[in-house]
Amino acid sequence: MTDKAKNILAEVFGYSEFRSHQRKIIENVLQKRHTLVIMPTGGGKSLCYQIPALIFEGLTIVVSPLISLMKDQVEQLTELGVSALFLNSSLSGEEYSRNVELLKKKEVKLLYLAPETLLTQRTLSLLSSLQIDCMAIDEAHCISEWGHDFRPEYRKLAGVRTHFPSATCIALTATATLRVREDIKSSLGFDVSNEFIASFNRQNLYLNITPKDKPVSQTIDFLSGHSGESGIIYCFSRKQVDKLYEILQDGGYSVRPYHAGLSDKERAVNQELFIKDDVQIIVATIAFGMGINKPNVRFVIHFDLPKNIETYYQEIGRAGRDGLKAECVLLFGYGDIRKIKYFINQKSEDEQLVANIHLNALLQFAETSVCRRRPLLNYFGEDYQIEKCDMCDNCLAGDKELADITVLAQKFLSCVKRTNEMFGINHIIDILRGSQSQKIYNFEHEKLSTYGIGKDYSGKQWFHLARQFINNGLMIQDAKYGSLKLTEKAYDVFKGTEKVFGMIEEEDLRQVKQQKREVENDYDRVLFEKLRIMRKELADKAGVPPYIIFPDKTLIEMSTHYPRSDESLFYIHGVGTVKHKKYGAYFLDIINSYLEQKIANNVS
Ligand code: ADP
Ligand code: ZN
Repeated sequence: MTDKAKNILAEVFGYSEFRSHQRKIIENVLQKRHTLVIMPTGGGKSLCYQIPALIFEGLTIVVSPLISLMKDQVEQLTELGVSALFLNSSLSGEEYSRNVELLKKKEVKLLYLAPETLLTQRTLSLLSSLQIDCMAIDEAHCISEWGHDFRPEYRKLAGVRTHFPSATCIALTATATLRVREDIKSSLGFDVSNEFIASFNRQNLYLNITPKDKPVSQTIDFLSGHSGESGIIYCFSRKQVDKLYEILQDGGYSVRPYHAGLSDKERAVNQELFIKDDVQIIVATIAFGMGINKPNVRFVIHFDLPKNIETYYQEIGRAGRDGLKAECVLLFGYGDIRKIKYFINQKSEDEQLVANIHLNALLQFAETSVCRRRPLLNYFGEDYQIEKCDMCDNCLAGDKELADITVLAQKFLSCVKRTNEMFGINHIIDILRGSQSQKIYNFEHEKLSTYGIGKDYSGKQWFHLARQFINNGLMIQDAKYGSLKLTEKAYDVFKGTEKVFGMIEEEDLRQVKQQKREVENDYDRVLFEKLRIMRKELADKAGVPPYIIFPDKTLIEMSTHYPRSDESLFYIHGVGTVKHKKYGAYFLDIINSYLEQKIANNVS
C-alpha cells in the first residue's frame, strides 16, 4: 500500500518525499480508520486524503466551506491529471448536470462539496447510488462553536456520515486550540488513537517584531528590499487601509486594498489580481485571507498590532505556504495597545476579561527577549525547547546587553506608591516627566517629590520601561482599569536588595532589519525571470493562477539545476507525469536556449 502511495506522490504530484506525518496518516486512512489531522497551514494536509482517494476504488467526497478553496483544489488536481469535480451553488444547471453524469459513470475520484450541498436530498440520493470510500472534512474547525469560523451546517456532518457507512472519515484542520480539537473529536465520535498532531512551528517563517516609529517609512523601507515579491499588509481599520494604499499607489507600487467597505465585486477583483500575480501587494483588514491558497506570499506585515496571538498566527500563516522562506514583520507600537484597549472597553464585562488575557499574552510575545517561537508555541500548548531558532529577530540579534535600570525602576515604582496605586502607566509617566496637564493639577500631583524627576527619558521610553517592570513582576496592572499595583518584589527594589536589568529603547528611527536569504539567493535570477514569464503566459491561457501551473519552488529548482532533458526534468520538484507532458517542452526550450546563449556569449 505504502509503495503505491509513494509512487503516486512521485508520478502524479512530482514530489520525492513525504513530509512528517503524511505517510502515517495516509496508511491510517488506507486501513479504513477514521482520522483527525491537525497540521498548520502549508503543512500538506490535502495530500493526506488526495493520495488515498487515488488508491481507493470508489469515490472520495471532500467537504469544504468555501467555493474559492474548492475551485482552487479542483484546478490543481485537474492540472495534475486527476479527475476531480465540485458541486456547489456557483455551477450553472448545465455544468451541474454534466458533473452528475460524470459521477454516475464512475469517472471521478474526488468530489468537492459545500456542506449545504451535501445535506440536500438530491445530493444524498445521488451519492447513495455510488460507492463512497472516503469522506474528508476539510477545515474541520468549522464544526466547533469555539472556533473562529463556526458553520452550523458543519455540525450536521456527523449525522450525514450514517448515509455512507463504508466511508472512512478524515477530518483536517489547522486549528491549534485544544478546546476546538476536543470538540471536533467528540462531535465526530473519533478515537484519540487516530489523531495526528503536527508541530505548529512554521520553520520557514522569519518572525520579526520592530518598534513602530514612523510606520509608513518603515514599511516602504521594507518593501524596497522586497521588490517583485507578493505580500500582505494588515491594518487595524478600513481608514488605515485606504490611507496606506494611497501612499503606496502614489509611490508606484503594484498594490490594491481589501476591506469590508469595498463592494463584493471590488474585493473579488482585487483578490483575483493578487492570486494571479498581476498585483503584488494587498493592504487589508483581517477580512483578507480566508479562502486564498496562494503559496508564494513572501511577506506579511502587521502595520498595526493584531488583537491576539491566534489572529497573529493565522495571519502570518498565509506567508510561505510553499515552504520557502517568508518574512513576517510586526510593527509594535504602544499607541496601538491603547486603541485595542479602547475597543475592549466597549465589550461586556466577561468578554473584557477574556480579551485582556489574550492581549496580555500577545504583549508578552511582542516584548520577549528570548526566541519568539517559545512564547508563540507555548501559547498553543507546545513544549518548544530549542534555544535559538535563527529565524527570529531575537535569535539573530545576538546577546543583547541589558542595562542596569534599578534607579529608573525606583523612580517609577515610588511614583506609583505615592499616588496610592490608583493610576495607570500614562499618568505616572506624566508625573515623572513633569507634565502640565489639567489632570496633574486636579490631583495636585505637581507637588509630589517624584514630579519631573524623569525628564531625561521620553514618554515612549518610559512606556517601554514600565512594560518591562510589569513583565519582571515588579507591578501588576488591573485588567479592567489599568491601574498599577506594586508587588513584594517592588519593595525589595526600593530597599536596594533586588536589582533590575532591562533595555532602554533607543530614540531614533528603527529600520526593519532585513533578513538575508542565503540559500535561495543561489539560483539564477535571470533564468528564473524568463521561466516566470512563460509560466504567467501558460497560466493566463489556461485561466488559472500561475502557481497552479508550477509553484515558485519548481522554477527555482530549474534555475539551480538547469535540467536540459526530459528525464532530468522529472527530478524537479512538482513535475509529475501529466505536467511534464503538458508543459515540460516549454520550459526545456527556455532553459536550453538560455544556456546556449550563455555559452555563445562566453565563447565570443
Ligand atoms: P495545507 O492544506 O495543510 O495548508 P497544502 O496541502 O495546501 O497545505 O500543502 C501546502 C503545499 O505543500 C502545497 O503546495 C503542496 O503541494 C506542498 N506539499 C505537500 N506535501 C508535500 C510533499 N510531501 N513534498 C513536497 N511538497 C508538498
Ligand atoms: Zn528564535
